Amino acid sequence: MHRLCLLGATGSIGASTLAVLRQQPQRFKLYAVTAHSNVEQLLAICQEFQPEVAVMVDEQAAQRLAAALTHSTTRVLSGAKAVAEIAADSHSDTVMAAIVGGAGLVPTFAAVRAGKRVLLANKEALVMSGQLFIDAAAASGAQILPVDSEHNAIFQCLPGAVQDQLGHCDLSGAGIHKILLTGSGGPFRDLPLTELAQQTPAAACAHPNWDMGQKISVDSATMMNKGLEYIEARWLFNCTAEQLDVVLHPQSVIHSMVSYADGSVLAQMGQPDMRTPIAHCLSYPERISSGVKPLDFLTIGNLSFAAADSARYPCLDLAMQACWQGQWATTTLNAANEVAVAAFLAEQIKFTSIATICAEVIEQVQRANNVTALNSIDAILSLDGQARAYARERIKRVETC
Ligand code: NAD
Ligand code: MG
Repeated sequence: MHRLCLLGATGSIGASTLAVLRQQPQRFKLYAVTAHSNVEQLLAICQEFQPEVAVMVDEQAAQRLAAALTHSTTRVLSGAKAVAEIAADSHSDTVMAAIVGGAGLVPTFAAVRAGKRVLLANKEALVMSGQLFIDAAAASGAQILPVDSEHNAIFQCLPGAVQDQLGHCDLSGAGIHKILLTGSGGPFRDLPLTELAQQTPAAACAHPNWDMGQKISVDSATMMNKGLEYIEARWLFNCTAEQLDVVLHPQSVIHSMVSYADGSVLAQMGQPDMRTPIAHCLSYPERISSGVKPLDFLTIGNLSFAAADSARYPCLDLAMQACWQGQWATTTLNAANEVAVAAFLAEQIKFTSIATICAEVIEQVQRANNVTALNSIDAILSLDGQARAYARERIKRVETC
């Protein structure tokens, strides 16, 4: 039986993970859960799954949770440090990294360093730390399994020997020509470009195919999500720029593809439901039931494909450039984007300002020429903090409407 630590239990990936665990009570024991501050939701999870440990980042939330759990065996801890400690705790063998954004870096990295089987949903952690992350996994023997549906699809389309080399894949040696990362194009794919600036947070979060947390929903509307995934794919599959392409596929039936030298293209298909990649990672290399219905091709009818338009998705271009500019650029971009998305969700900036702010912050960091070697998590966090400060300054100067 696997003993699981679920980081980000109250989020969208957290909920899908718990849904799979409900299907498989014999296989997995939920050892620990963490959340930021949603007491009601974490309490319900603790009452149902009775984990040994529950951690809340927010101190007062943790006190309320502890008070509600006095008669339970669940131990309640608080603070960001405790989240990272529980991620590395020797009582679990598997860690689901499902915290959103840069807040996930330290705990996810702690799980990697501790040599866990790490189910990686928190793409921002890899985008921020790249080579450090891959090297830490190699040093500790941590097994990384990609939860992000595209990377999970690619992983499933790779030969077993390449799956075992994650982070150090020899794609051309395995006869692989290209990785094709698919994306739906989000809710604004067919909107006239002139209407983009007026889009509200509610419209941006209404994804046509996927039901997700707010930050990744906005990232899907700008296609920054695909850009972060491009960077994620580069690290996981050790791709060159020539080996990695993005293809728009509005139906979200194909979750990504691998194109081989002989002309074969392998695609992984399924419902747009994260329970599928989560179940795949939880049980790999076996297969278990996830509760997701198989595809009905007669209902789907057609699959279509297109190129992503730079004028509509400047964030995708920024991320693809940053990917090859260096670690400083991807760490900076991720930080600026998080701050800009939060400001957009708070209705402080326009939808189209997200890309402008990200581009300006990258230029500012480059001009400041203060990018020292990013060879430690502390150095990464310091640059992340600097980029966030620059982004906040710029937001103050941007007009609301
Ligand atoms: P969400 O906003 O629904 O949930 C985020 C979780 O992180 C919550 O449990 C929250 O309590 C926790 N959290 C937030 N801030 C925190 C902090 N400062 N410290 C510790 N914990 C904190 O997000 P989500 O949609 O579930 O996404 C989680 C991660 O998975 C993201 O990195 C996202 O890119 C990735 N992902 C999500 C989906 C999806 O379908 N939702 C798909 C692929 C990848
Ligand atoms: Mg994805």
